[in-house]
Amino acid sequence: MRNPRLEDDEGGRLAALARLEVLDTAPEQPFDKIVGLVRTVLSVPMAMVTLVDRDRQWFKARQGLDAPETERSISFCTHTIRQQEPLVVGDAREDPRFAGSPLVTGDPFIRAYAGAPLRTPDGYNVGALCAIDTQPRNFSGADLAILTSFATLVVDELELRQIAIRDQLTGALSRRGFIERCDQEIARFRRYDRPCSLVLLDVDHFKAVNDTHGHPAGDEVLRQIAELCTLTMRPTDPIGRIGGEEFALLLPETDPDAAAAAVERLRAAIEAHAFRLRGGPALRITASFGVAAIGTATDSAESWLAAADRPLYAAKESGRNRCCR
Ligand code: GH3
Ligand code: MG
Ligand code: MG
Repeated sequence: MRNPRLEDDEGGRLAALARLEVLDTAPEQPFDKIVGLVRTVLSVPMAMVTLVDRDRQWFKARQGLDAPETERSISFCTHTIRQQEPLVVGDAREDPRFAGSPLVTGDPFIRAYAGAPLRTPDGYNVGALCAIDTQPRNFSGADLAILTSFATLVVDELELRQIAIRDQLTGALSRRGFIERCDQEIARFRRYDRPCSLVLLDVDHFKAVNDTHGHPAGDEVLRQIAELCTLTMRPTDPIGRIGGEEFALLLPETDPDAAAAAVERLRAAIEAHAFRLRGGPALRITASFGVAAIGTATDSAESWLAAADRPLYAAKESGRNRCCR
């Protein structure tokens, strides 16, 4: 039996793209630099790092183009990801696939296109690195070799980025990754006025766990705390490890009352959990919580975290193993 071609495995491709956790994130320097280099080296007015989502193409980096995304159906890159070699179009007006595209008949009046697929290590083309001209032109073998090399750099950067936004011990988001998600929620609040609550969790008397049972035991407790968070909250709620024994959770579409109820479930789950450590006794651990709802005063992720830190401090002061807001 023939293996299905990876190019035909759209579900697997979209899952690979989702794993990168990059869609709708802010511009980042490594990608901007590569796009700038492509523009200079290939002397084109436009260059992009394009990620091909289910129904749209979204640009992680772009130069010479205003739109942050376009429909997938009119995109050139949706053709590029169907092949392993770069896709080259010398004059789009003469190519039946593109002659009628609004990107060709109207702004930005694409004529020439060269795109190298962004191929993940597991073999999925998640997007393309592309160079675009408003004049018909040819791309040399050297041009395409350079574009292909830069495309591998883009994929390397996507992988590094993924490592940077995840905490290696617990699998939760890193502080950086969590702040990125906070920024996305703040943007969503400003655009659509949707509620969101931020929860800070600090393990009670954690230093005593390390002192009594050793640092590896402390690490195991942190892993189990992260797991309890994942099991107790909605699967889509972002969880971050933002400090040594401090976690943070975002509860989108959740007002403070509903958030307090969810946190109470988590608090009780941690209190009831027997933290089994290899070769040691089962420990009982508790945690304290602070909750802050998003609001018009939430002007940054840092200020939102600070707003949750105050009730967390109050929870510690008033006896621990509780939630304040
Ligand atoms: P409180 O109830 O007031 O929060 O007391 P606490 O002991 O939890 O607070 P404190 O901030 O004094 O101690 C936090 C401890 O967490 C100290 C530090 O050694 C430990 N810690 C930080 N990161 C890690 C880690 O990655 N692994 C382990 N095992 N311990 C860590
Ligand atoms: Mg702490
Ligand atoms: Mg603590």
